[in-house]
Amino acid sequence: MSGSLDLSRFRPPESFLEIAERLETEGFEAWAVGGSIRDQCALEIGGAAYLPASDWDLATNAHPEEVMHLFRRTVPVGIEHGTVGVLSGDVLVEVTTFRRDIETDGRHATVVFAEEIEQDLERRDFTINAIAWRPSTNELRDPTGGVADLTAGLLRAVGTAEDRFREDYLRVLRGFRFAGRFDLEIESETASAMAEAVAGLGRLSAERIREELMKVLADPVPSSALDFYATSGALTHWYPEVAVAAEDREIWLKTVASVDEVPSHRPALRLARWLVQTAVEPDARAAAAHSLTDRLRFSNADQKRVVHLVRHYLPFVGPLDSSSQQRRWLAEVEDAWRDVIRLHIADARALRSDRGAGYIAATWRAVHEEILSGAALSIGDLAIDGDDVLGLGVVHGPIVGLLLEELLEQVIEDPEANKRDRLLEEAQRLIELGSLAGARPPDPSGG
Ligand code: ATP
Ligand code: MG
Repeated sequence: MSGSLDLSRFRPPESFLEIAERLETEGFEAWAVGGSIRDQCALEIGGAAYLPASDWDLATNAHPEEVMHLFRRTVPVGIEHGTVGVLSGDVLVEVTTFRRDIETDGRHATVVFAEEIEQDLERRDFTINAIAWRPSTNELRDPTGGVADLTAGLLRAVGTAEDRFREDYLRVLRGFRFAGRFDLEIESETASAMAEAVAGLGRLSAERIREELMKVLADPVPSSALDFYATSGALTHWYPEVAVAAEDREIWLKTVASVDEVPSHRPALRLARWLVQTAVEPDARAAAAHSLTDRLRFSNADQKRVVHLVRHYLPFVGPLDSSSQQRRWLAEVEDAWRDVIRLHIADARALRSDRGAGYIAATWRAVHEEILSGAALSIGDLAIDGDDVLGLGVVHGPIVGLLLEELLEQVIEDPEANKRDRLLEEAQRLIELGSLAGARPPDPSGG
């Protein structure tokens, strides 16, 4: 049933059509399935404000070895699940043989090949994700009523809701994402099954949870999906730090509104904004961000970046602060300064505050000027280095760094002090003062 959908307006990419045509010429069926068809339908129905750049996945009754035989350039991307990547130009299209589940355990499914597209659709998670379209005949297959649900604004599990979530608990979080993205109401049986299945989220792997979160954060407006996480109790297992913070509804709503305002092509920056709410004190915030990113097995580089941003979100600096305060802030925040400012821009936007936005813009200009002035902001910018300090008779060790840190402090206060002679003199003075434990004053006897 296609209702009032204008199928002629479905626009698959050329690469997809070429592969579909080839399969059809050889006597196989080639169907577009999953996210791309759902998104095209949503757009046609008017339930989506934008067209997400989703992949066009192809389902076929050709078996993987037949697919690999038909196309010259293939990649066995998921051959164990019947998926072969076919290259058309430099675009990789995933071609998957019709499947049906024979066994599931909440995390994985054992699948076998199926004969009919309908069987393949019936193993999918939500009705809106179980629609297929065959370009060669312009047929739509929608055995579970996905188009009707999309039209009615409903998210509904395929088949018996309870079973679907028990088969794979990740579907709970996927459901929140789709409901949030397309502004769907969760149909009541699906909703109660989801509420019950939330308790099973702990059985999933950290990787799947993380990837799902990052997909939410890459959506244009993630706040509704995030709010489903909060109101369903889904935060409890994987995001306890956030769950605690979310108890203050006012702060929570402000937070997710700000997350929306961070550009969607910066999901990690959005994550940082989301985690800022976990504590008031910078070290406590950083610790929360650290344990959460550990639990979700983020890469070291991503973790470092996110924790750094979360820590340095506040205290912030303003255009009316002294230039030495601005430089001190830059020295702390280092190359994340633009991103920290972006977080504050998002806050101002979320508050619809022109004054706030003006203030942040002025901050940006002020600190940027400090950077352009070439003022020293790190030890590497000092006019002397560790070897110079050692040349003054200081013993090797942490004291060298401490001395340079102290000199940097002075130079941040007064950029004029960043001259080799002045710094050597000051270093000498500090050593003689002995104020830095471990410094050995030069022997006055000269021996
Ligand atoms: P998006 O790409 O926007 O995240 P999508 O629906 O395309 O959304 P994919 O993960 O790319 O999601 O999966 C493609 C299709 O495969 C889905 O539309 C759905 O039909 C099916 N699918 C994916 N994951 C599951 C799952 N965990 N359980 C059941 N079906 C799934
Ligand atoms: Mg997809």
